[in-house]
Amino acid sequence: MTPILAVNNLTKAYGPLVAVDGISFAIPAGSCFGLLGPNGAGKTTTLEVIENILPPTSGDILYKGQPRSRAFQNEVGIQFQHTSLLAMLTVWETLQVFQALYTDGEDLDALAEKCQLQEFKHQRHENLSGGQRQRFLLALALVNRPQLLFLDEPSTGLDPQARRNLWEIVHAVKASGKTIILTTHYMEEAQHLCDEVAIMDHGRIIAQGTPEALIHAHCEGVTVVLPRHSFRQPLETLPLSVQEMNGAVHIQTSNIDDCLKQLLSCQVDLSDMSVYSPNLEHVFLNLTGRHLRE
Ligand code: ATP
Repeated sequence: MTPILAVNNLTKAYGPLVAVDGISFAIPAGSCFGLLGPNGAGKTTTLEVIENILPPTSGDILYKGQPRSRAFQNEVGIQFQHTSLLAMLTVWETLQVFQALYTDGEDLDALAEKCQLQEFKHQRHENLSGGQRQRFLLALALVNRPQLLFLDEPSTGLDPQARRNLWEIVHAVKASGKTIILTTHYMEEAQHLCDEVAIMDHGRIIAQGTPEALIHAHCEGVTVVLPRHSFRQPLETLPLSVQEMNGAVHIQTSNIDDCLKQLLSCQVDLSDMSVYSPNLEHVFLNLTGRHLRE
């Protein structure tokens, strides 16, 4: 089936700086696609070129198999990282103003319900909390009943609870059949929301696939973590390769059974042990030697 969006060999340069360097991907309708990467990787630039806000330096963008036309502008919804809104308007008035720009608008009561705006819809938006503001910006991106939704770092700056709340709403939006493309530097967000992820670094896609496939391809085994005080002996005498970080001892192993047997044979106290499966953060670390949030 023709993907709803196809990006072919896209490049965007700002003078000598190549912000997006020949990237390609295709997004099937109804899926959630994530651009994951550290600050400055080129995620926002990629979105803004696809959204038709910035011209590409080279490359093609096809929407439903065709170059983007006027229909594209009406069928997409955009949640920007920063949006300037009229300070004197309430949440509800702002939704009405945005909706009036389109012929086929969403029912605003249903939208306010879906994005959990009801209890503050008559407040001026400048007084909203971080989580309320992001839900409001999401609602604004949905006023025209878009088929393709762009979310640029939707949960940056939110506390964990507000972030999870937003994820639930994004899940519901996706379940209603919309296609979503989002940028994030939270690997947990990408893992939670995205069917497919492209990991960007320095303008390039360095890995792409489902979160599970990426983890499987680039990470091995699990990480066992124990406090330093669980070990009576000097760490260098252990028959295992270990790493000490911030008072904790990390052991990466592809054979957890053997690892535990060896720790027990060395009389290591396992009562405070934690075991972590690899995630997209480890994929990035293994590919680049850096953390996403460094
Ligand atoms: P962040 O997570 O911080 O938003 P990002 O991955 O979205 O990062 P971009 O904002 O796309 O990254 O920036 C990619 C590169 O392009 C960066 O080096 C940035 O400084 C540069 N850049 C972005 N916009 C411009 C501009 N208008 N003029 C010159 N350079 C720019």
